This record gives sequence, C-alpha cells and structure tokens, in this order.
Amino acid sequence: MKILDGRKLKSEIATSLKNEIDSFVNNGKNCPKLVIIQIGDNPVSNIYIKQKMNFAEQIGAKAVLEKFDEKVSSDIVVAKIKELNLDNSVHGMIVQLPLSAHIDLPNILNEIKPEKDVDGLGAINIHKLVRDDKTGIIPATARGIITLLEKNDIEIAGKNITVIGRSLLVGKSLSLSLINKNATVTTCHSKTKNLFQFTKNADIIISAAGKPGIINDDMVSENQIIVDVGITKTEDGNICGDVKLDKKTVAAISPVPGGVGQMTVASLFLNLFDTYKNQ
Ligand code: NAD
Repeated sequence: MKILDGRKLKSEIATSLKNEIDSFVNNGKNCPKLVIIQIGDNPVSNIYIKQKMNFAEQIGAKAVLEKFDEKVSSDIVVAKIKELNLDNSVHGMIVQLPLSAHIDLPNILNEIKPEKDVDGLGAINIHKLVRDDKTGIIPATARGIITLLEKNDIEIAGKNITVIGRSLLVGKSLSLSLINKNATVTTCHSKTKNLFQFTKNADIIISAAGKPGIINDDMVSENQIIVDVGITKTEDGNICGDVKLDKKTVAAISPVPGGVGQMTVASLFLNLFDTYKNQ
C-alpha cells in the first residue's frame, strides 16, 4: 500500500520556495509577506497558525499575526483588511477559520483584495474557480490535494472521484478543482443516502467529513486511492482522520497526520508566492 507522504512533499516544496525567495531577496526585493487574521483564541487554530508561521520562517517569508478579541465587531476587522489591502508590503492575507457566529464571514472574505486572497475563498476567486479561470487562486487544501495526487503520478483526468463533504473550504472547492482537471466528480454530504454506493465504484475517494471511521473496510476495495482530509482530535490528545481500515489494504492512502494537512500549509505559501510574483 503506497503512502501519499505529505510531510516529504512539503519539505521538497519548502526547499524549492526557499531557493526562489532567496533569489528575489538577493536581487534587492522584499520577501513575501502574509498576514494571518485571527479572531478569538481557538486552541486548534493556534496550532494551525503556529505551523504556518514556522513554515514561513523556513522558506524565508514573513508571516504576521493580527489577533482580535473574540467579541470584535465585523466592522473593525473589515477596517483592518482595508488597511492591509492598501499596504504594498503585504502580498497575501487569510482569515483563520473557523470564526464565531457573530462574524459575517462571507462579507469579511469578500473585503480581501482578490489579488491578496491567498486562501482563495473570496467571491471573485470562487467565481474564477467555477469558470476555470487560471488567473484565480485555488483554495489551499484543494491545491494541496491535487499536488499530492499529481506528484505521486496519480492521474486525475477521466477518473471517477468521490468527494465526501461540501463545505466551501474543502469539499465544494475541491470538487470544482477536480472537475477543472477533467475528473468525473460525485460530491457526497451529510444528507447523502447509502454512501457506499458512491464509494464502491470510485477510483479515488477523498473524505473531508471530519467523522472518524466514515470510510472503513466495508467502503473500499484494493485498487482504490484514498485521500483522508479529516482531522479530529482524539481523547488522548492526538488527531485522527476519517479513514479507519483494520483489515483491507488499498492502492494508496494519505495518512493523518502527515498527509493533506502538511500539503495545505505548503499550498498556502505556494499561493502566497504566486501573489508575490504577480504584485
Ligand atoms: P465542515 O463541518 O464545514 O464540513 C463537513 C462536511 O462533511 C459537510 O459538508 C457535511 O455535509 C459532510 N458530512 C458530515 N457528516 C457526513 C456523513 N455522515 N456523510 C457524508 N458527509 C458528511 O468541515 P470542513 O471545514 O469542510 O472540514 C472537514 C474536515 O476536514 C474536518 O475534519 C476538518 O478538520 C478537516 N480539514 C482538514 C484540512 C487539512 O488541511 N487536512 C483542512 C481543512 C479542514
């Protein structure tokens, strides 16, 4: 069973980004700068932010955290985004998700200048994704999964791919990205009846439900490729994915941890480097 090793690929991407950034900096340019907007103090978000800051340091980019109180109003956050839109030293910004319910998330994401929207979740970039306009920015998790498949020589075009999950952040943006790569995509969600009928004939199953064990021995067969996006905290303080195989083996699988999560971080900075070069 082949392991789709996100950690190794992330390290390769880091080396290549560092070389490219170094050559810009050696030619007198500023390094790429990312601003991470955090609202509240969600402990899981703190872990993801730390991973992003560490990766920025590793590749010679700058990542700055703008942290707001849990109760901040949408207006104050929008004012900060407008200020960052005008700041030429900032090449990309993201809003760390999830946010508490009182924040008007679509409105906030749409305030980010599309050229700096490195999570690709604002309306303009989503519209470009729908139209397969290559000038758009692909959300980091979708880009990371596609890179993980492509770098492992797994063909996407013409394949039957079942995606489980339909959030804008992962399932929906990933489904659109795969259609743009000429896959035949089935998107399942919490109201899908009899999930098995959609996994059994898939060439590739990508699970982003956040439900441990939703993909199990009964759902898969040996020639399939499984990408596990789910991240759930376990009682012992570790994390686990959506896939739990006890008896069966498959052709290839991405581990949790060490799979898609690593690729999401790397892809965010690939997006940042793209916006840096364009600006
Ligand atoms: P979400 O809660 O917004 O979406 C979950 C999706 O799963 C929904 O669309 C829902 O319809 C679907 N779903 C839930 N139960 C289901 C069921 N029984 N059958 C079929 N579909 C079902 O979450 P999200 O933000 O899309 O994240 C999904 C998971 O991926 C979470 O575990 C999250 O932590 C993880 N995640 C991982 C990365 C990464 O880089 N690895 C990035 C983002 C999110």
